[in-house]
Amino acid sequence: MKILVAVKRVIDYAVKIRVKPDKTGVETNNVKMSMNPFCEIALEEALRIREAGKASEVVVVSMGGPQCVETLRTGLAMGADSAIHVSTDMPLYPLAVAKLLRALATKEQPQILLLGKQAIDDDANQTGQMVAGLLQWPQATFASKVVLGDQRNVTVEREVDGGLETLRLQLPAVITTDLRLNEPRYATLPNIMKAKKKPISKITPEELKVEIQPDFKILEVVEPPKRKGGVMVGSVDELVDKLQNEAHVI
Ligand code: AMP
Repeated sequence: MKILVAVKRVIDYAVKIRVKPDKTGVETNNVKMSMNPFCEIALEEALRIREAGKASEVVVVSMGGPQCVETLRTGLAMGADSAIHVSTDMPLYPLAVAKLLRALATKEQPQILLLGKQAIDDDANQTGQMVAGLLQWPQATFASKVVLGDQRNVTVEREVDGGLETLRLQLPAVITTDLRLNEPRYATLPNIMKAKKKPISKITPEELKVEIQPDFKILEVVEPPKRKGGVMVGSVDELVDKLQNEAHVI
């Protein structure tokens, strides 16, 4: 059984984001980039399923410019068997990524398509749901536990507002991962060396017969408003007065 894992290259979570002076986006030049943390969790889960003998192959895929290859190398160093780079310079939004993933899933025939629940750069939380819709595969989003049954089903626990929901899905299926699913491994030095020999194939959206259209336009990106300093109040009466007459919240 093959598992396909979508991994996105994003600005590292620890970097302080700077907006470009022309407000068209955020600065990515000379900024540390990493694999999206939810995608690391997705890959870790795929590797654990393979290590438990329930899958034979883990393939990572990343879409975007040439630097995606670095992210794929990280995925290979963590333990993926092979990688696919969908190469394009077009800006990619969730619907385009979902269409590309549908084309790849049709070509590669995985039984599980694993994604992060969201990418920490756009926070869209849309791609997994869209690709499941396009493929007409069952989906379990925000997975906090994944248990493979026989080769045809998977049981997924997911965190919902009221507690935990358990779903059983027929394979092939789409699963998106939440934070508490697992703790991803670090790539060891020997595995980083081994990863250099693992194959990365390259394919274009044209070869996948997917036309990428920018379906929306970013009008402006701005910093959040600066937080105003707080004030110390001398008494409860003063606090109530300010809440009533200044903040108008009670
Ligand atoms: P989003 O819907 O943008 O929040 O992204 C959700 C998930 O879709 C990510 O965690 C990835 O698994 C996948 N994804 C989104 N964009 C890409 C990309 N350019 N390359 C590979 N995977 C992606």
